[in-house]
Amino acid sequence: MIIHLNTSIAKDKAEELGRKYESIVFHNGKQYVLVTSSKVKGADAALREVAEATFVTDSDIQLASKQYMPDTRSIDLGPVTIGGASQNTIVITGPCSVESEEQIEQAAALCIELGVKVLRAGAYKPRTSPYTFQGLGLEGLKLLDKMRTKHGLKIITEVRDSTHIDEVIEYADIVQIGAKAMYDQGILRKCGKSNRSILIKRGFGSTLQEFVQAAEFVLSSGNSNVMLCERGIRTFETKTRFTLDLCGVAWLKQYTNLPVILDPSHAIGYAYGVADLSRACVAMGIDGLLIETHPNPKVAKSDAEQQLDFEQFRALYKSMGAVASAVGRKIV
Ligand code: PEP
Ligand code: MN
Repeated sequence: MIIHLNTSIAKDKAEELGRKYESIVFHNGKQYVLVTSSKVKGADAALREVAEATFVTDSDIQLASKQYMPDTRSIDLGPVTIGGASQNTIVITGPCSVESEEQIEQAAALCIELGVKVLRAGAYKPRTSPYTFQGLGLEGLKLLDKMRTKHGLKIITEVRDSTHIDEVIEYADIVQIGAKAMYDQGILRKCGKSNRSILIKRGFGSTLQEFVQAAEFVLSSGNSNVMLCERGIRTFETKTRFTLDLCGVAWLKQYTNLPVILDPSHAIGYAYGVADLSRACVAMGIDGLLIETHPNPKVAKSDAEQQLDFEQFRALYKSMGAVASAVGRKIV
């Protein structure tokens, strides 16, 4: 159960109530909020006295639930807002990894050319093998920072593990918690204490319940700027890298209040299908797309097979506007 305390309740009192009712306590900008286990279905008289409102949810998907907040949360990404009443679908693009200044400069130039506002690229790569390119680390973050200053782009980059979480929070406008890091509660809680927007990718073996509960760790730490990203789950199928769970996306849209971003690049794992999948995703009425692009995918140091070259991306980008407007949305 979620309890909005009266705005007159101060920190000490809220914390005392938190201990009494075995709940998490955070401030939502207006008042202190208690969140108990979802098994608690009602407030006693003492709690009712200090509560402005209470919300009961079916499961521990609580703060992310439409039972708590019926509309999709609005997230201000600087030049644009997604969610809320906006009907915006943000397109985020860039390479899998920052590889060099020249490469990320080319990626930034593509964003500027098309009006894409958020540049993506990883500096700390969560690779499956320790023998492959692991990312440029801090040097990569500094190159991204340079692109932000020089071109006015917003930056999304991923956190791989807790060793560099502070650095990523410092340099990113949006912190991406990768599919493999989704279960790291240290990362989730730290992101919850930051004022950055957070994009959580679904672990490829995670149920929707586990995925959204990961978001609950961030939300219940006080950060309400959380987006969910479906990037494909592992199934019996081996012809494509993963299986993009569009049924799951329909479920997230129906039952959660968090904006949903889709990543067709990692889902299929091959460039040939990314354009068709992207348009299909836009047609579902989603809040955003994450698409990997590279000036020369053949020589990319990570995820070479799935990255679009710039010509492919230009053609895709041009084609998405009509699909978006057919479902009452706008590409931003
Ligand atoms: C990525 O965005 O480059 C990435 C590694 O994503 P994921 O965590 O979804 O595998
Ligand atoms: Mn990648």
